[in-house]
Amino acid sequence: MTAPVVDQPLRPMEVSPRLGRLHDAFEFAGVDVLVVTHLTNLRYLSGFTGSAGILVVRSDGATLVTDGRYGDQAEVQIEAAGTDVEVVVENTDQATRVREAAGDAGRIGLEAEHLSWSAATRYIEGVFGEAQVVPTSGLVEALRLTKDPGELDRIQLAARIADLALAEVRPMLADGPTEREFGLELDTTMRRLGAADVSFETIVASGPNAALPHHRPSDRRIREGDLVVLDFGALVDGYHSDMTRTIAVGEPSELQQRMLDVVLESQAAGVAAVRAGVPASEVDAACRTVIADAGWADAFTHGTGHGVGLDIHEAPRVGKTSDATLGTGQVVTVEPGVYLHPDGGVRIEDTLVVEDEGATALTETPKTTVI
Ligand code: ZN
Ligand code: ZN
Repeated sequence: MTAPVVDQPLRPMEVSPRLGRLHDAFEFAGVDVLVVTHLTNLRYLSGFTGSAGILVVRSDGATLVTDGRYGDQAEVQIEAAGTDVEVVVENTDQATRVREAAGDAGRIGLEAEHLSWSAATRYIEGVFGEAQVVPTSGLVEALRLTKDPGELDRIQLAARIADLALAEVRPMLADGPTEREFGLELDTTMRRLGAADVSFETIVASGPNAALPHHRPSDRRIREGDLVVLDFGALVDGYHSDMTRTIAVGEPSELQQRMLDVVLESQAAGVAAVRAGVPASEVDAACRTVIADAGWADAFTHGTGHGVGLDIHEAPRVGKTSDATLGTGQVVTVEPGVYLHPDGGVRIEDTLVVEDEGATALTETPKTTVI
């Protein structure tokens, strides 16, 4: 069976201004140079997608140190992204190349959240000599919060592919597949429709398994009377989508219907709360209040949502203790759930673009589905 790949024009990403924006944060962070080791951040800043590299960002430019496998690829991708990054290929002594790229900087920042203990020790004790090594936190992640039009187009296409894939395979649920069989079909369909990969390991949780928020697909056969939680997404050019729908197979029981209604209302309240300037904790509270009013406060066992982009989970966190304030151009999920052992569970999730006056859902699959 060959369905056409979903194709739509994608606006270009604006990669080249990102290094300049990063420089602007150097003074506040107390660094002269930042050594970017987290590959997702490196990709964001340079366009390079290889699996090994260190990007040294100075106020007057940047140098990517990578190995022989990636020299040509790095040159091509950096040129395509329009970024002004020098590429240095070194297979044996990358530390020396990194030090050279840092020049005579006095304060060298490392990404504290992304370095192993041993790598950090190596940098602190040896690589940079007399220079002061400064731990930094979230400098590139702060830039990644606000998506440019090209990034939004990629996330939107990923969400669309996930929508179309579910529409195509959903009827299979009535045929009694195992969770694993259904998950595989969903994954394959997303790939066939043009996804580079799945966004994360697809969750297919049926019957009692639906009470486990992060259940992995098993050999359990989906049957009449089940609620089936499907949490999945597609990957397009490095960008993720994330959607959860809960489908009732056959007529839902009274309890199942109540769970579906409460979570639907909770999710709608959360979506209605999303707009620029709103604390993320308020979105969480909007969802949580509805579920608490239904008497199920303890059955909503996770945060309300998260940012989505080059990582499936990134800033801002949408939860009770989040100190983030939503801003225009951010992409967040709203995904409340209720989990009742051993009856099952319901979760509903959209990926949303935050706007000045509200939000637009990129995930468009209908939410009340009985099959
Ligand atoms: Zn999800
Ligand atoms: Zn999610």
